[in-house]
This record gives sequence, structure tokens and C-alpha cells, in this order.
Amino acid sequence: MDKHLVDEVVAAAARVVAGGAISANGHGNVSLRVAGAQEMYFTSAPSLRGLGPEDVVRVGLDGTLLEGRLPPIQGAVVAMHTAMYHDRPDVGCVVHTHSPYATAFAVANRSIDCWIEALATFGLADGVPVAAYGPRGSEEAVSNIRRAVRPGVPAVLLSNHGVLVFHRTPELAILIGGVVEEAAQAAINAMALGGPVEIPGDLRAAALQRAMAFDAVGTKTA
Ligand SMILES: [Zn+2]
Repeated sequence: MDKHLVDEVVAAAARVVAGGAISANGHGNVSLRVAGAQEMYFTSAPSLRGLGPEDVVRVGLDGTLLEGRLPPIQGAVVAMHTAMYHDRPDVGCVVHTHSPYATAFAVANRSIDCWIEALATFGLADGVPVAAYGPRGSEEAVSNIRRAVRPGVPAVLLSNHGVLVFHRTPELAILIGGVVEEAAQAAINAMALGGPVEIPGDLRAAALQRAMAFDAVGTKTA
């Protein structure tokens, strides 16, 4: 095992927990792609809370366990991570949680629409799609995820289950997980006030353009 990559997975798990977009029992898993190899490092514990280096295993993108011990219950969700690495060469990190508000939408089989600007600026201008339910780790569940995720989209709700986010780096994947949870929480609160309102399509595009222009220029300093 590469100690640096193990540490990176442990640090990413700690950041997911610290960010708060996670259920009370801490259930979830984090994986990192190994650059230049058909492999990933993957968390083998049922909870991300208190995860240590002994809870990280090395798995081939064909699903073969290469190093470490992986309990069957965790092994069952390997395929939804490897599928993202197979389908999306740009993806370097995949995070799965049951973050409570986003999971409420997943349980209701309802997409999270573009109610907050951060969704528009992070590749979710068309909202967070919902993958139809399939038994955990089944081929059906994985093919439903693949069907729901369009190119460039970094998050998907797993019906009656939870959330899957994926991006180039752990920082970005964790950021997306937080944005999705925040949008879901705001929308559920807004339901007491007549319901959330989606940002109009042209303004979603404008928000993205503005964010990209700002990124390119940066903040002016004196
Ligand atoms: Zn789960």
C-alpha cells in the first residue's frame, strides 16, 4: 500500500465527517483513483467516523481485492465506485454518503433541482438526477446509476438509499457533497414557505459564465 494514498483517503474521510454532509451513523465510503493504474484505494469500514489507515484497502477497477481486508457488506458497493472511474476518466475521487437531507430526496425519488446558485456553477445546472432503485451493489443498481449520470454531472441521488458524488479531487467531490446537502436542506425548509423555486435556465447559464469568468480573472488585489 502506498502510505501517501492511504493517508489521503483517511484525510478525505475526516473532511467528509467534519463537513457534516453525513448521516448520524457516519455510513459512507470514499475512494481515490490510483493515477496510472487500474486501481483505487477504498474505505473498508461501515462508517467514515474515526476511520484509520487500517480501514483502507486496494481494489482493482475490475473489482478484485488486491490488498487488505474487505467485509462483504462493504465489498457490495465497490462496483458503484469502479463504474465511475471506468466511465469518467476525469474522476479521481468518489464519495458515497447517506447525508440526511439529500437522502430524503433520494427516498422520495425526487431530483434536487437548481434551487441554489452553487449547483449551477458546479455542473448541476440541470439539478441532481435520481438513479432508479436497484439492490445495493447489484448490476441493476450500477446500470441505473450509469443511465442517470450525464457527462460532466458530478452527483447522483440513489433512490431509497443515499448520494454518490465524484470529481477530479477529494476537495471537489467533498465540496459537491456539501452543496447537494445544502440545496436539499434549503429546499425542505422552503417547502414550509410555498416550496423552492428553480433559478431560470438562462440565469443558471449566466451564473456559470460569471463563475468561470471570475475564476479566470481572480480577485483584484491592491
Ligand atoms: Zn450506502
